Amino acid sequence: MKGITLRLCHLYPELMNIYGDRGNVMALERRCSWRGIRVEISSLSIGDALDPSAFDLFFIGGGQDREQMLVCDDLSAGKGAALREAVEDGAALLSICGGYQLLGKSFLTWTGEYLPGIGLFDAETVGGDTRFIGNVAVRCDLEGAEGTLVGFENHSGRTRLGPGCRPLGKVLHGYGNNGEDGTEGCVYRNAIGTYLHGSLLPKNPRLADWLILRALRRRHDLEALPPLDDSLEEAAHRAALSLIRRESLRPGMIFARGKPRSPFRPRPDRSGAGKGSR
Ligand code: GLN
Repeated sequence: MKGITLRLCHLYPELMNIYGDRGNVMALERRCSWRGIRVEISSLSIGDALDPSAFDLFFIGGGQDREQMLVCDDLSAGKGAALREAVEDGAALLSICGGYQLLGKSFLTWTGEYLPGIGLFDAETVGGDTRFIGNVAVRCDLEGAEGTLVGFENHSGRTRLGPGCRPLGKVLHGYGNNGEDGTEGCVYRNAIGTYLHGSLLPKNPRLADWLILRALRRRHDLEALPPLDDSLEEAAHRAALSLIRRESLRPGMIFARGKPRSPFRPRPDRSGAGKGSR
């Protein structure tokens, strides 16, 4: 795929980067370069202007409530509108946890701060008094990325989706959007929001390619991406799934002997990781 360049914008890399989120950018870059696609990575942060036509793919990671407040102000000051314009025009986007929350309509933290979102996703988030922490498995039916997704979540926010977007998948194990309705993440056009840290993309290569293909289609007429040898990535995916299965065999977990017993029932928070915001 010589002569093709993917323009990737990493938003707030120094503020929004926890639990290996930066690995998503590395995975996108490597999967492109293995195919001969050049990747230009630009980092934009507080105060930088965002040209909606300058990028094919956006990435924003997770963050703690106090970093989210800084980013929230900056998004309201102009970047949010530019991001919405880019996604309406076909750009692809991946947002994780704290980033995902800020791209919805609002985030009311557990300590009572109201953070207005940019409204890209029809989603509202409210902080809870316990944190949802642990490994997650999700059944995803996104065209071209069908199958399980695996990751790790740690959030107090409970997100509820409105009719303007659809979930990324159904929770098989873990909490997902809110620990109640069985949904995880959201999809609007080529933009994805998810609670899955991990890093997510290195062990979910189909999702990485979903994003790359849609990002490239913003400026190129492409049917599909050439396949890669994903044996290592699939082995990592299987290892994460079998870890989750082992956890599920313990009392109180959602899976019973590998089969979902009650896929949509949240398991009790036994993390003891405490209350309130991070
Ligand atoms: N601070 C947010 C929450 O607790 C997001 C956390 C994160 O990005 N992991 O819900």
